[in-house]
Formats: sequence, structure tokens, C-alpha cells
Amino acid sequence: QNIIIDGSKGKLVVEPDDLTIREYEEFIAEKESYKKRLKSLIKYKTATKDGKSIKLMANIEIPEEIDRVVTNHSEGIGLFRTEFLFMEKQTYPTEDEQYKIYKDLSERIYPEEIIIRTIDIGGDKVLKRLNISKEKNPYLGFRGIRISLHDTNLFKHQIRAILRANIKGNLKIMFPMISDVREVLESKSIINECINELKNENIPYNPDLEVGAMIEIPSAALTSDALAKECDFFSIGTNDLVQYTLAVDRNSISVQDYYQPAHPAVLKLIDMTVKNAHKNNIKVAVCGEMASESKFIPLLIGLGVDELSVSPGLYLYVKDIIMNTEYKKAQKLAELVKNETNIEIIYDLLRNKE
Ligand code: PEP
Ligand code: MG
Repeated sequence: QNIIIDGSKGKLVVEPDDLTIREYEEFIAEKESYKKRLKSLIKYKTATKDGKSIKLMANIEIPEEIDRVVTNHSEGIGLFRTEFLFMEKQTYPTEDEQYKIYKDLSERIYPEEIIIRTIDIGGDKVLKRLNISKEKNPYLGFRGIRISLHDTNLFKHQIRAILRANIKGNLKIMFPMISDVREVLESKSIINECINELKNENIPYNPDLEVGAMIEIPSAALTSDALAKECDFFSIGTNDLVQYTLAVDRNSISVQDYYQPAHPAVLKLIDMTVKNAHKNNIKVAVCGEMASESKFIPLLIGLGVDELSVSPGLYLYVKDIIMNTEYKKAQKLAELVKNETNIEIIYDLLRNKE
């Protein structure tokens, strides 16, 4: 039996007629030529049509994804979600195992950089071995940096592995779920402790490690001026920022209509974060899914976001959109959107620019 599986529409056509077959053949040919066109972008540095460079990086969850990152000539890894190293196996990766993974990635991608996010367990990413008692609101519970600052052994193994692996100097560290500047200060003092330990143990390491915070909780965005003074960079995690700002579970289908990245409240927090980062001379990236949605990309660029980090599969698609965006127009769009409180009108403005 002939069937056509159309993954783009979630459709199965059984015994297609000649016309349908021809339509699908054309569709496949179009897709192939689009893919070819995207591949031709690899040789260019990412910039808008009018020459504003935007650093475009990739998000990875497992080390194996590095192959795709390298083939795309990605301008670095903007988010390595290391919790997946801890979730996959029966036992935690040891400091040495982590060291090997980070060192290998650092060498594979050099001279580009990798932002290693320390484990972000909790919420929907459960680690049974951690024995976290069942919480009624796991997203508001023991998660991300809260766990790392509680179980400092686990945290220190990861930090020591990063410091040791950073021989080429292209690794950076980033903390998830920061809600207050004290968490950054405490984390930095643990980094210093690790540096002292390694020094005393005569183990080679690189003490120059840039430290960043994820801005994904409204309190972090609202205190981003203070945070920027303690950080070398910011990365806005819109997946969680939307969830926590609008009080809407990011994985719930029943409230998905409430999950609106272009809600004026979310945009105000992004705008505030970018302004505070720039005021303190640090760069700001967006690494949530918002960074790979065509309607939001010109808006984020117009709001002044310096860098985007997206999944490897969407990398060239996003690059194409950036390269077709005019920075000046994006800035005007951002101004219009910032003055608007009606979300329908905001989406109309964004769609007109698509
Ligand atoms: C985010 O919250 O936007 C983010 C990038 O982190 P994660 O999706 O891993 O929570
Ligand atoms: Mg997050």
C-alpha cells in the first residue's frame, strides 16, 4: 500500500492519488531547496540586513549534539543543559567524568565558547536519587541553584570539573533559577573555594571563568541592575520567565492559551533586563524557545538583545530570519510594541513584520 506520512501536518495519506503525489513531490523539492539555501548561510557571520551583528549560538542537552553544532558552524554554545548528564545514568557523573566531557566539548568547539549551565534539576526534571520529597508545586520548590547551594558537594564537583576543563579558556559558567543577588554571591564564593582547593591539590585549572546568571524569574529581572554588577553576562530563559510572570505552567495544555511570550509584562521584564545589562556593560542573550520563533526574533533584536541561543535543528532557520531582519526597523517595532498594552495588537504588529 502507498502511504504518505506528512510530519509537518501530522497527517497520514493512504493510497494517495496522482495529484496528491505530485503535490507532495513538489513540497519535498521545495523543502530540499530551502534546506540548501539555509546551508549556504553557513559561511556568513550572523548579522542583520543592515549589518548589526547578533551572536547566534546553540542550545545542547547531551554532548553528542556537538556534531550538529559544529556542522552548522554555530557561534558557540549558549546553553549546555548539564542536568541531562545527571538524569541519564544510574549514577551521577563523577568530577573526572564531567571534566572529560567539558574538556572534549571545549576542544571540539574552540575558539568558540560554551556556556555551561550548572544542573537545573527540579520542576519537570526530576532526579529520583536526590530524594527530594514530593512537592505540591515543584516549579516553585526545590529547583536549580537552590539544590546546588544546598548540596554543595554535587555543585563543587561540577565547578571543579569546569575549572579544570577550561584550559583553552572558552568555557563559561551560568546559574539557573537565580532569584536574588545573594545566590550569585554565594555561588561565586563556592567557585573561589574550588579554586583554592585545586591550587592546594596541585591540580591544573584556569581561574579565569566568566560567571553568568539566567534571568528566568521575575525577581531576577526586577533586580537585574544589582545582578549585573555581580555577573559577566545574562541569559534570559523565556521558557521559565513566561511561566513565572504569568503564573502559567509551561507544560500544561489546559492553560496553554495563557502562555504568551509577548505579554506586555514579559516584554517589560526583558526590556528592563537588557537595559540594566547594558548599563553595566555586560551582554544579554535569550536562550528560551522565544529566540527561535520567527515572530519574536525581530522584536528581541529591536529590544537590544545581543545574542540568541537556539536548538541545533533550528539554528540555520533562525540565522536566515536574523539575516532578513533590519535592525532599524526592529528597533521601531520594539518601540511600538513597548507602548502597546493590548496583546492582540502586539501580535498584529509582530505578524506584520514576519
Ligand atoms: C528557559 O527557562 O527558558 C530555559 C532556557 O531553561 P530551561 O528550558 O532548561 O528551563
Ligand atoms: Mg529555565
